Amino acid sequence: MSPVVHYRIKRGDTVEVLAGKDRGKRSRVRQVLPKEGRAIVENVNVAKRHLKVGVRGARQAGIVEVEMPIHISNLALVCPRCNKAVRTGYRFLEDGTKVRYCKSCGEQV
Ligand SMILES: [Zn+2]
Repeated sequence: MSPVVHYRIKRGDTVEVLAGKDRGKRSRVRQVLPKEGRAIVENVNVAKRHLKVGVRGARQAGIVEVEMPIHISNLALVCPRCNKAVRTGYRFLEDGTKVRYCKSCGEQV
């Protein structure tokens, strides 16, 4: 049995980048790639790619900017209440609903 990995980041979250060239930047999670343990974050880890006409459907030759996936361990959720990157945990409500919460202030996030 392989262990189930729970990621604490999901699509649409506002996160802060903890490491790398975009360290300190805050942005929104565009996509989570669970198999890779990575996420694509808006305007974070942007790489320039040179394109030739016809390659991967490119209509124009030139340079395009591509958001490269960043490892989830390098991201932290920004708590709207604390207004900073925080650790999160999970807990269950009385009706059994699983919710994520900020370990700093206790707010559901
Ligand atoms: Zn908080």
